[in-house]
Amino acid sequence: MLFGSSGIRGIINKEITNNLAILIGKSIGSLYKKVIIGVDTRTSNQMIYNAVKSGLLSVGADVYFAMITTTPTLAYATRNFKCGVMITASHNTAEYNGIKLFNKDGSGFSEEQNYEIEKLILTKNFKLAEWKSIGKFFNYHNAVEEHKNAILKFYRGSEKKLNVVVDCGNGASCNITPYLLKELNCKVISLNCNEDGNFPARDPEPIKENLKLLCKAVKTFNADLGIAHDGDADRIAIVDDEGEFVSNDKLLALLCKFYGKGKVVVPIDTSMIIDCFVKKVIRTKVGDIFISQELKNSNAEFGGEPSGTFIFPYFNYCPDGVFSAMKVIEIAKENKISELIKGIPEYPIFRGKLNCADKKKKETIEKLKRKLSKLNYKNISDIDGIRVEFKDAWILVRASGTEPKLRYTAEAKDEKTAKELFEFIEKEIKKTLK
Ligand code: MG
Repeated sequence: MLFGSSGIRGIINKEITNNLAILIGKSIGSLYKKVIIGVDTRTSNQMIYNAVKSGLLSVGADVYFAMITTTPTLAYATRNFKCGVMITASHNTAEYNGIKLFNKDGSGFSEEQNYEIEKLILTKNFKLAEWKSIGKFFNYHNAVEEHKNAILKFYRGSEKKLNVVVDCGNGASCNITPYLLKELNCKVISLNCNEDGNFPARDPEPIKENLKLLCKAVKTFNADLGIAHDGDADRIAIVDDEGEFVSNDKLLALLCKFYGKGKVVVPIDTSMIIDCFVKKVIRTKVGDIFISQELKNSNAEFGGEPSGTFIFPYFNYCPDGVFSAMKVIEIAKENKISELIKGIPEYPIFRGKLNCADKKKKETIEKLKRKLSKLNYKNISDIDGIRVEFKDAWILVRASGTEPKLRYTAEAKDEKTAKELFEFIEKEIKKTLK
């Protein structure tokens, strides 16, 4: 399987080569004849972009190049095209690259659509164009400006001045988030806001250990808020006005509280904190494409993942870290983020992973499910792996979509129960893997 839930991703010149990129270009171009491409700031982007472009042109597809864009910018621009191609490895480190495909409505390709492309890559069943029908190439200069201006139209906050530190991590958001915030009347202090695909300042993943400098800067400059993105800004993380990193589960809960309107869509590994703020929580398989699919089905106004990807479907079916930054600013203009965060309960949650070969994942999970059923556990859901629901606690075991691993989680309202459940399920997985 080439495509995971987040497209194709791997180490450059090992898993992701220019030969593969040409095949991907030819496959996409066989199905879609007007394609827009964007890249993040990675050093390998020109190599991959030119190969994808060459493949597309060779089968007669027209190519529009949006240059460096965030993933949500590219997804938003796709509304004027047949297909969007984003060259990025998202939050992975500099040696990785990847390709993610988008529909006109900004949603990522579904499993079925990815499978169709994959089949073409493997069978090489594409027809090269006659010389007269080779695709045409255009630069597309407006993607960033259009995305930014569209976000501004959705702003419902006040004109109050805020001091905000922005850490773009040298990724694609350098060309949009700081400028957007200025237009929202923020005094912007920029950190790592020069494009650099070596990611010299920090790893692209906006997790607590990578954002120590941002926390320090918020304190030093006495700022109201810190905002960080991953390499392609489909993710956002924030630091409150006291310089404290806001955990992903709490940020998700905060956004659910303000924007959930009673119904939200989240993946099955999401903390039960959000159940305190929203009447109806719909849980899906893990992966933003499943969230956006369910948002379409359920008409919910907000969806998101604890990884920091948030979807506001009335704007973009792609997780949009830039739009999310604007929505956080709306909240921060009227409230101290630290006070809001203190009002969100904290439940102990333990997350672990164990090695398991891809071909063994399904079988292991099936065996575990049979075992747990025999133990008389009643509330077992199999939306993605196995989730067992208890009163005020739950456990989950699922196959990772990107690594040869099983992931498992246990959460409870008290530390002792969470730990016991975590140790129990870890032991059961290890026994089943033997
Ligand atoms: Mg990303």
